[in-house]
Amino acid sequence: MPKRCSQWLYKYMSTLLTSADAKTTKGEPLGYLTGILYLAPANVSGFNVCPNATAGCAAACLYSAGRGKFTSVQTARIAKTRRFFASPKRFVSDLSKDIAALVRRADKKGLIPCVRLNGTSDLPWEKLKGDDGKTLMQAFPHLQFYDYTKSSERMTEFVNGDMPPNYHLTFSRSEKGGMGSVYAGILASGGSIASVVNIKRGNPLPAFSGSTQLVDGDEHDLRFLDPKGCIVGLRAKGDAIKDTSGFVLQVA
Ligand code: SF4
Repeated sequence: MPKRCSQWLYKYMSTLLTSADAKTTKGEPLGYLTGILYLAPANVSGFNVCPNATAGCAAACLYSAGRGKFTSVQTARIAKTRRFFASPKRFVSDLSKDIAALVRRADKKGLIPCVRLNGTSDLPWEKLKGDDGKTLMQAFPHLQFYDYTKSSERMTEFVNGDMPPNYHLTFSRSEKGGMGSVYAGILASGGSIASVVNIKRGNPLPAFSGSTQLVDGDEHDLRFLDPKGCIVGLRAKGDAIKDTSGFVLQVA
């Protein structure tokens, strides 16, 4: 491996959180510095980090969008995922150090730090503890954490107020059938649902009839700022553009 490439890989591997990609920079004008953890989704690494992934979402996963399409990025994400499974406790402790650094960096920039741990995974971070016996939400009680999830159980815990108070979840729609009552229950309880739609970058989301508010999820990634009980539209990117499974909602 060329020296510059191996140095980059080492830097990428030693820093678990990313805070300078297209998603995170959109939050800065709003006053937030976001740190995102990107693992290798579904079972790409040989370990499954998405227990509720569907065939459509795994195939179209954002892993293939943006920087994720580069082999070196994918290699680093696979290595990070294996590092997590080798020692989840150590990994949480290492993440804790990265989060502390993010908080310091945000402070210097006059921004509010926030963290998304499931950038391309769906792990129950609210249950995972570091060497100090604390979850990351407990270790940083004043820090806002947020994620998307495909787990109706985790989303139900969130809308019922059973998640840590500093952890916000948005339910992520997939092509899975028979979910109508689950979606209705989430919206009625004030939870939000995100869906990938077949609208091209730069084009507006279609007008939405009904009383549920539609939020453009591509304007920024700070889902905890969304109104309660809304629908979040995300334009298809990467391999999702070619989706035929129903994961990408055909609205145009
Ligand atoms: S869309 Fe979400 S649940 Fe599906 S594979 Fe990607 S990260 Fe995992």
